[in-house]
Amino acid sequence: GKPAADMYPKKILEYMEGFLISKTVFSSCELGVFDVLLAAERPLSAEEISQAIGASLDGTERLLAACAGLQLLNTHRDNGQVCYSNTEQASVYLTRSSPVSLYQSIQYSSRTIYLCWHYLTDAVREGRNQYEKAFGVSSNDLFQALYSLSVILFPLKNQLVGFIRRQWVCEGETERQQRVWAVMSDEEMVKFMQLMNSIWNICGKDVVTAFDLSPFKIICDLGGCSGALAKQCTSAYPECTVTIFDLPKVVCTSREHFVTEANKRITFHEGDFFKDPLPEADLYILARILHDWTDARCIELLTRVRRCVAGGGVAPRGRLRPGDGAALLPEHAGADGGEREDSCSVRCPADYRRIHGTQHRLTGKIYDAVLGHKET
Ligand code: SAM
Repeated sequence: GKPAADMYPKKILEYMEGFLISKTVFSSCELGVFDVLLAAERPLSAEEISQAIGASLDGTERLLAACAGLQLLNTHRDNGQVCYSNTEQASVYLTRSSPVSLYQSIQYSSRTIYLCWHYLTDAVREGRNQYEKAFGVSSNDLFQALYSLSVILFPLKNQLVGFIRRQWVCEGETERQQRVWAVMSDEEMVKFMQLMNSIWNICGKDVVTAFDLSPFKIICDLGGCSGALAKQCTSAYPECTVTIFDLPKVVCTSREHFVTEANKRITFHEGDFFKDPLPEADLYILARILHDWTDARCIELLTRVRRCVAGGGVAPRGRLRPGDGAALLPEHAGADGGEREDSCSVRCPADYRRIHGTQHRLTGKIYDAVLGHKET
């Protein structure tokens, strides 16, 4: 129809250009703009930056202007010349050396996800993933380890993606995943595990403190990977111990590179959470696990957790007592703040409805928390 006089398609225009912003951030990181500025410890001109990153002056000038527009860089005028420095956010999150760097995630988004999303229309039309078109290899080709990994493991951002993953991407066979890990070099494994860590460095504390988990002394993090969330738990709750349960190769790499023996409150348990007995615990964490599996597999896993969970009293909503068994499921949900109880309606993945007595808390950050209690 005809637009009202004061109508302006603000949102639609923003959506149309969203990818330009993503790509500007990806390229600036990949070229090392933020790293160069961090190392310089003073504002640099476009010419200095272009030389340091080995790129054209014209291209660099345009990229820097875009980054300044996105408030990732500050501009300084010096004798008529524009110089650039990192904003605080860029310096903390976009430089490779920062302890909370998002660099690995950004690289993954740029090199893998971005290419796949180019074929979203085809994916929807055909009802299957587009790895073949994007990378020239079938997603079943195990020797393309990194691609396969992204097919199976990587947590994507919203429900639409979750849907796509569940329906077409993640058949979620443990054997396949194990073979994928097996063909990865140690270096690739460590890189991927660092990538898994990066988000928890930023919002893990919010997730583990979204509920008061202090009544749970024995925690088991199923698919706990490099232990980033386990570390968040032990630092937020001084009395708890956490067992990281994961596939053997992951446990081995995690022990070697991520969790030192000095951390006495974090232990490991190798196994397959579909087949092997789960370690006893009064809280099981399933962080970014369910989205990798079909509904049937999720039910299987949640049923196993329910059977193992200690205690069994009905916990009052929001107030937990020692011995109340529970499962914590941090997943992408929404980010509009606030708190909900038993509101697994629109936003909450369908899987959660199958857990009785679930509570859902929004953190306002990228991941929220769902806590399910065992009811008798
Ligand atoms: N929970 C971590 C996080 O949020 O960063 C890692 C999530 S990652 C997407 C999935 C993890 O589940 C990987 O560490 C993987 O090795 C593990 N995993 C997959 N299948 C498994 C199985 N059958 N048994 C145990 N762990 C498994």
